[in-house]
Amino acid sequence: MKLYDTAIVGGGIAGYTAALTSKNLLLDYIWFGEDAFGEKLRLAEKVTNFPSVQGSGAQFAARLEEQMRAENLTLTPKRIDGIYRTGDYFTLSSGGELSLARTVILATGVEAGGCLPGEKQFLGKGVSYCAVCDGALYRGKTVAALLSSPKFEDEVLYLAKFAKTVFCVTRYHGSRLAGENITCIEKRPVAVEGEERVRRLVLEDGSLQVDGVFFLKNSPPPDALAFGVETEGGYVKVDRTLATNLAGLFAAGDITGRPFQYAKAAGEGCVAAHSVRLFLRENIKK
Ligand SMILES: Cc1cc2nc3c(=O)[nH]c(=O)nc-3n(C[C@H](O)[C@H](O)[C@H](O)COP(=O)(O)OP(=O)(O)OC[C@H]3O[C@@H](n4cnc5c(N)ncnc54)[C@H](O)[C@@H]3O)c2cc1C
Repeated sequence: MKLYDTAIVGGGIAGYTAALTSKNLLLDYIWFGEDAFGEKLRLAEKVTNFPSVQGSGAQFAARLEEQMRAENLTLTPKRIDGIYRTGDYFTLSSGGELSLARTVILATGVEAGGCLPGEKQFLGKGVSYCAVCDGALYRGKTVAALLSSPKFEDEVLYLAKFAKTVFCVTRYHGSRLAGENITCIEKRPVAVEGEERVRRLVLEDGSLQVDGVFFLKNSPPPDALAFGVETEGGYVKVDRTLATNLAGLFAAGDITGRPFQYAKAAGEGCVAAHSVRLFLRENIKK
């Protein structure tokens, strides 16, 4: 299997700048994301604080797309569900498909609202961030899926193939999901509770008895994605070179903390790619 110099995870402005810089530094990179630039850039009403940009987020994204085509950058449209250090390199998994890289730049952004009480406590004991990875474990059982966006509705349909009942709890209105074993609920989730494993999803008014809870959100907590990475206040802890506690794993953008700004995210994407180059030179003698 091919071993890349670096795998960049996240299609936002931090991941994009990391990919652009990696290309210019002649690194052999692979860039993963669901779509280039992401919702946070496309939905901005007006951008006034990024050099040379005056207009909506959609216009900003269009200019970036033009540059991406001109620079021949390719986004691999995959969602990564696990990053593991295996000896001298990292293994990245996406629904069972594996990729290998000597280094990783984590640029997966942050989720508004953070984590629910119990979410991290029950990770691997009924809490999951990936329907495709863990759905089959819930054959004949009752699960809740918490969706931050309609783009995850396909994952709910996948869950419904295995589970007896799927409660689909949405943060948005008007889900079009339908199915004999799917019940949509527009209520605010409050906590995940249980004993050894998950037993309940507590909502703002009542609770659901469930065997599992799937959090289907844009940006899962970094330590649920990159195993062993150190966090502080929910953000990845980095030094000035954007290195984390795991040798070869770098982080950039909102995931490293405030301020949440395009310029900061882009700058960190650039620094992280330079740090990857130095790391490879020092450790792999490229
Ligand atoms: C409505 C709105 C307006 C804003 N306006 C401005 C503004 O005017 N000026 C400004 O400076 N900032 C603004 N911001 C803040 C700005 O959007 C963020 O600071 C910036 O987008 C951070 O970039 P990022 O690349 O770190 O993260 P993100 O933009 O969040 O990108 C991360 C990407 O990674 C993807 N991802 C997550 N997990 C995975 C995974 N496991 N595998 C693959 N891909 C994954 C996500 O889907 C997402 O596309 C605004 C934010 C919002 C929400």
